[in-house]
Amino acid sequence: METRVVFQSEQNIDRNVMEEAGRLIRAGELVAFPTETVYGLGGDALNTASSAKIYQAKGRPSDNPLIIHICRFEDIYEICSQVPPQAGKLAQAFWPGPLTMILPKADRVPGETTGGLDTVAVRFPSHPVARAFIEAAGGFIAAPSANVSGKPSPTLAKYVLEDMNGKIPLIIDGGAVGIGVESTIIDLTGREPELLRPGYITREMLSEVLGRVEQDQTMMEAHPTGRPKAPGMRYRHYAPKGELTLVSGEAARVASYINEQCGLAKAEHRKTGVLCTQESLPLYQASVIDSVKSMGSRESQESIARELYRVLRECDDEGLEVIFAESFSDEGLGQAVMNRLLKAAGHRTVEV
Ligand code: AMP
Ligand code: MG
Repeated sequence: METRVVFQSEQNIDRNVMEEAGRLIRAGELVAFPTETVYGLGGDALNTASSAKIYQAKGRPSDNPLIIHICRFEDIYEICSQVPPQAGKLAQAFWPGPLTMILPKADRVPGETTGGLDTVAVRFPSHPVARAFIEAAGGFIAAPSANVSGKPSPTLAKYVLEDMNGKIPLIIDGGAVGIGVESTIIDLTGREPELLRPGYITREMLSEVLGRVEQDQTMMEAHPTGRPKAPGMRYRHYAPKGELTLVSGEAARVASYINEQCGLAKAEHRKTGVLCTQESLPLYQASVIDSVKSMGSRESQESIARELYRVLRECDDEGLEVIFAESFSDEGLGQAVMNRLLKAAGHRTVEV
């Protein structure tokens, strides 16, 4: 299958392209599209054959459920059997936007889309291209991130093409995404609301609307005792091919430890890399480090979230074998960044 890439600007959405994308979805095909978080791989959420294609294209385990994307709040009643007042409050505060809610599923949502669960994940994205696409496609788009399972989620259309070339007919290229990490997931089916995956909407922001919000205890742990409640959080994710270690501590000490370790790796002819920040960039020694990459500024957690997956992908593109990354506080959006970095590193961490 030939994969076409069509550019769409947020300001000037081409109806013809949306109609074509809508036709493909109704015919059971898959279309990749931009959202404000990362690129999604979309299929008709109510068509079991489309969901099966999504799992196949990604190489995703079929017990890992998909998020259903809608383009009008009212459509939540079409796919959920109960919508508690908390969902309305969260929607008012954060929809359209990077928040996914877990609710009891309606009968018409096939188990193939929800990984066999009787709950469903729902999101109403804010990206204008995503909204136009969902509407043109009938209103219910099942979409995981548009990467092959185990790779970082795509933040640029070129990474979607890298992973999906020949597997899907159309990629809608909306340029670089704004947020860069996947949506926050909150479960509203238990006794208390519970955060299952950290994202741009932080636990603090959710608490301001709902009061107390629990947190899945397995989220940030290296050796969790329980099973994560979001099935996707069980799998190893986002791992570069090289060996990635997170280093925490005072900036100058972190840099001197990394320079030393890279020196040792270099002596063994291994290709080395560092993921740092604008502030610390001058502290690293080009003589022993093949690739020094800035993830953004410590002054802006948003900048780190936006660049994180791109730099992780570049590690593989450049064939880096030994990689060190600086650590961040897990306050606010830092929790989402550290959750992804810890997974990428397989929880290999050093404190200096
Ligand atoms: P992705 O589409 O790649 O952002 O992954 C979707 C995430 O949502 C995965 O971690 C899923 O396990 C999680 N998810 C989807 N549906 C449910 C559900 N009904 N209950 C809990 N987690 C879910
Ligand atoms: Mg994903």
